[in-house]
Amino acid sequence: MLDNPISPTVDFDKPGVQHGHLRLPHSHDESAWGSITIPIAVIANGEGPTAILTGANHGDEYEGPVALMDLARRMTADEVSGRIIIVPMMNYPAFLAGKRTSPIDGGNMNRVFPGSPGGTVTEKIADYFQRTLLPEADYVLDIHSGGRTLEFVPFAAAHELPDRTQRARCVAAMEAFNAPYSMMLLEMDAAGMYDTAAEEQGKVFVSTELGGGGSATTQTVAIAKRGIQNLLRHAGILSGAPEHRESFTLGMPDERCYVISESQGLVEPCVALGGTVRAGDVLMRVHDVHRTGTEPVEYRANIDGILAGRHFPGLIRHGDFIAVVAVPV
Ligand code: CA
Repeated sequence: MLDNPISPTVDFDKPGVQHGHLRLPHSHDESAWGSITIPIAVIANGEGPTAILTGANHGDEYEGPVALMDLARRMTADEVSGRIIIVPMMNYPAFLAGKRTSPIDGGNMNRVFPGSPGGTVTEKIADYFQRTLLPEADYVLDIHSGGRTLEFVPFAAAHELPDRTQRARCVAAMEAFNAPYSMMLLEMDAAGMYDTAAEEQGKVFVSTELGGGGSATTQTVAIAKRGIQNLLRHAGILSGAPEHRESFTLGMPDERCYVISESQGLVEPCVALGGTVRAGDVLMRVHDVHRTGTEPVEYRANIDGILAGRHFPGLIRHGDFIAVVAVPV
């Protein structure tokens, strides 16, 4: 296989604090011999595990970038036992555009793994994580939020995994992150995800969904900052015990959790995020926008649980995600 074209301006084996870039050559009309320079920080000191922390895997999700830029600025080497590799804006072109996917190639970072060294810009970044960064990691944290089109109750997540030992280590790390909710996540489409790539390499992997709507709040940023510190303490990279507060554990037993739109129109939310629902309760009405006097289409919960995520914009189309109902465990 080709070598990956990204060259780092940091030395992953050097102790201390380094701020630099992953430099990816990108030739285009405005810069013939140009490059995309993805910010990266490496903080290393002595023996210990390696954690890779990422945000903006989707470019319109902001808690990760905010909390990780803050961490990179504050962290000193003498606080660390091991190594922290921070990439606050993983899909940097998407982040700069304020979009979920890359404006260069339309690439959705969380659908292109394992990537390709000779592929699109997004595939090249994915390949660098797949073959260069992930093999260095013991712990992998990828901070997501809902982005512009989704909104979630703030949760850290782990997946059901065939290896019981790895599953238990991922669950322990999710619980250490200690978001207000802890979710055993059922993916709608796990192929091509960074999550799957990290898990297949045997890593302890935690992801999150912290809020959404294409912005961050004081509460969700605080959850991200605290969760990162807790996870690094759990890993033994930072000293001290993780702070523990109450966290509600949620599960997603099967695809009945998800409700999908089969109409187009104006959204009327009927249950608040985090609210308790019973099977059959109306979660959302969708109003016809072309005439008055018509009945809205009602979308109902398939199962009992709590409303853990919802469609965020005021308009909706056929095939859009409406809501996810998760079950307290
Ligand atoms: Ca996301």
